[in-house]
Amino acid sequence: MDTMVRALAHQGRIRIFVCKTTELVEVARQRHDTFPTATAALGRLLSAGVLMGSMLKSEQEKISMTIRGDGPLKTLIVDADHQGNVRGLVGNPYVNITNEKTGKLDVGRAVGNGLLNVVKDLNMKTDFTSSVELQTGEIGDDLAYYFLVSEQTPSAVSVGVLVNTDASVLASGALIIQMMPDADEADIRITENVVAHLKPISQMIQEGMTPKEIALALYDDVEILHEQPIRFECSCNKERMRSALSTLEVIDLKDMIYEDHGCELTCHFCNTSYTFTEEELRDILLLKGADHVAHS
Ligand SMILES: [Zn+2]
Repeated sequence: MDTMVRALAHQGRIRIFVCKTTELVEVARQRHDTFPTATAALGRLLSAGVLMGSMLKSEQEKISMTIRGDGPLKTLIVDADHQGNVRGLVGNPYVNITNEKTGKLDVGRAVGNGLLNVVKDLNMKTDFTSSVELQTGEIGDDLAYYFLVSEQTPSAVSVGVLVNTDASVLASGALIIQMMPDADEADIRITENVVAHLKPISQMIQEGMTPKEIALALYDDVEILHEQPIRFECSCNKERMRSALSTLEVIDLKDMIYEDHGCELTCHFCNTSYTFTEEELRDILLLKGADHVAHS
């Protein structure tokens, strides 16, 4: 089962977030039919999304992250909430670029240069929104830069996805360590040392460590605050698709009724298709107040 933990160290001056996302990234891979480098990029952002969702203060809040790069992957979007639900999509899933020297999946080149945009729906009148320039396109570096610049929180971010030779997901996860405002020199020095000796998160997951074990191994006095299951879960359903259809122009709805005799809508986040019959479309049109539908 995929899980995430929140923890504290050094009397609360250091915050720790760790998740294992192997199963949910595999679900994303199957839904979107991603090639290995696209799997790694989407998996990294989904894993980071889970952790950033858990940083939200309440169950009503949501976070959405968009990476728009000039590389072949185009746009990546991930939505997450506070309860461990995350969903995501990639503009071009058919990307498989490896670094010639290291033989590793080259996420940085697949993403390219561009922007990371973070929108927090804090259940208030206005959303919190912030954009930073991508630093390397490797996603971990870009998020660390975002935390420093937009949230004034020095953070170490490790995100990683290992892909099997059959293209399925072998191991995936994320780790974020953050310095709270009252962190002192010693906290920073010890953390730099911890980070310098840290194995890649995907390797620790592959070796069978749980998020809890990973968090506990970081410092001497780690206190686990919360542990919860996480999953790839999309909030789409037929009702939401129906409301989307009801925003269309009458003329477009009529085309769907009289020319196509129905329609099929697909959710970009999870690739689920919803079919609407001619009858259902007529009902939508009626609710829109188009009174002459019945006898057309
Ligand atoms: Zn969906």
